Amino acid sequence: MTNKYMYFIANWKMYGVLKTLNSLNRVISFSKKNMKSKIKLIYCPPSTLISMLSKKLKNSSIEIGAQNCHESQKYASLTGQINSNMLKDAGAKFVILGHSENRQSGEENKLINKKIKSALKVGLKIILCVGETLKEKNKKKTNKILGRQIKTCLNGVKKSSNIMIAYEPVWAIGTGLIPNSDSLKKNILYIKKKLKNKSVKILYGGSVNSKNIRDLKRIDLLDGFLIGGDSRDSKKFIDIIKKTYN
Ligand code: PEP
Repeated sequence: MTNKYMYFIANWKMYGVLKTLNSLNRVISFSKKNMKSKIKLIYCPPSTLISMLSKKLKNSSIEIGAQNCHESQKYASLTGQINSNMLKDAGAKFVILGHSENRQSGEENKLINKKIKSALKVGLKIILCVGETLKEKNKKKTNKILGRQIKTCLNGVKKSSNIMIAYEPVWAIGTGLIPNSDSLKKNILYIKKKLKNKSVKILYGGSVNSKNIRDLKRIDLLDGFLIGGDSRDSKKFIDIIKKTYN
């Protein structure tokens, strides 16, 4: 049983409408019953729900994150974009940056670096996603990719205490696959080695569920989990949390 503060970050991706927020009642009451525990819960819904969720979570310890932001803090004529100031105003405290689903549509490390700096300036905390694709893994390029992602994304970033890293192998996201514990440990240690600030929290993400959590929780290098699919079902999400501690 783990005895440290653990983060459970729900990434809802492009799912959820106002009505969906009712499904969180179960998690809110679970969180209230476990007020004194070491569980840190963060919900990252689509931007359209941040403000309503912020009202709903007013008297709870659950925090809110966004799933991406534009690199500029200024208000500008950029149709369809949302900046970090707007997310903060809506109630977000965190923002996920560098998610592979955005990297796959062309977001590069240099742009992610700009986004990180911009979001930190307005006071948001960062959940930076890094991870290799299957092709990179098979070509034994994982270290090179992780090293480059960390170096470029964090280039010139001073407030590293406001950053968490989520190691998310791209091939593990939404596939039901997870790395074996030796390679997971090896990759996390490599990430730690590349970070200047050794106290930065490291999470794992990619197909976390209530079955594989029993293996994942044994990796004591981890400070928590970023959970996609199974975070949208409150019962499954709570099950993952409970099994992390029992
Ligand atoms: C994610 O997309 O961040 C993620 C971890 O997804 P899933 O849990 O569905 O693999």
